[in-house]
Amino acid sequence: MAYLEVENLRVAFGQKEVLKGVSLAVEKGELVTLLGPSGCGKSTLLRTIAGLEHPNSGKLLLDGQEIQDRAVKERQIGMVFQSYALFPNMTTYENIAFGLRVKKIAKKEIEEKVQQMLALVELTECQHQLVTSLSGGQQQRVALARALIIEPKLLLLDEPLSALDARIRKQLQIKLRQIQQELGMTMIFVTHDQEEAMRISDRVHVLSAGELAQVSTPYELYTQPHNQFVAEFIGDYN
Ligand code: ADP
Ligand code: MG
Repeated sequence: MAYLEVENLRVAFGQKEVLKGVSLAVEKGELVTLLGPSGCGKSTLLRTIAGLEHPNSGKLLLDGQEIQDRAVKERQIGMVFQSYALFPNMTTYENIAFGLRVKKIAKKEIEEKVQQMLALVELTECQHQLVTSLSGGQQQRVALARALIIEPKLLLLDEPLSALDARIRKQLQIKLRQIQQELGMTMIFVTHDQEEAMRISDRVHVLSAGELAQVSTPYELYTQPHNQFVAEFIGDYN
């Protein structure tokens, strides 16, 4: 059994079925992407895994345990979004420490962990600055550190780099992949950007209108598209 198993997940909003029986499996320490055009159900799939949407049917297993009936907080899943959702009146340090503070962990341990995270995302120098004084790329690194510090079993990232300019986006793709491999963190990364998916993932899941059109390595996706939708969608990137 894989570390995360998504089995035949169906999600509808009223009459509209947005996920039409999605199954996928992610191994521990893998970074997989969900790639597809706007409106195909990527965010809905991530939100359902996180527990923010409720499936009409299907199962979710994480680390061998069924989680589909668990509350969001009991799933040990972290999330990073396109908008950083940081606390604007707090410093970089305070934002990163927040998740540990609410858990009532000893101050010295918090200090050590935050410094480790600051080093990991290369923000040690900015730790005393208010997050509102940071650039977009720096703020997204704070969001990443804040999600990682609570050591989730799984980290879900919903188009985290889409709001950033191309140069910073590319730098952060490389940085994120490096951090993910260093920590052996299991991640699902959502993007509508073919190039981004190709660059960072172990495996790409192409989603088309609520169904998986193909799951393969970036290389296979490029050389052996399984159907016309995939060929055309990936072809846009050439
Ligand atoms: P993506 O992230 O791939 O752009 P979404 O998962 O956000 O796609 O949306 C998939 C479809 O589901 C869209 O047609 C969207 O309008 C619809 N949808 C998403 N969330 C809701 C909701 N809470 N209520 C009704 N429709 C929704
Ligand atoms: Mg989305």
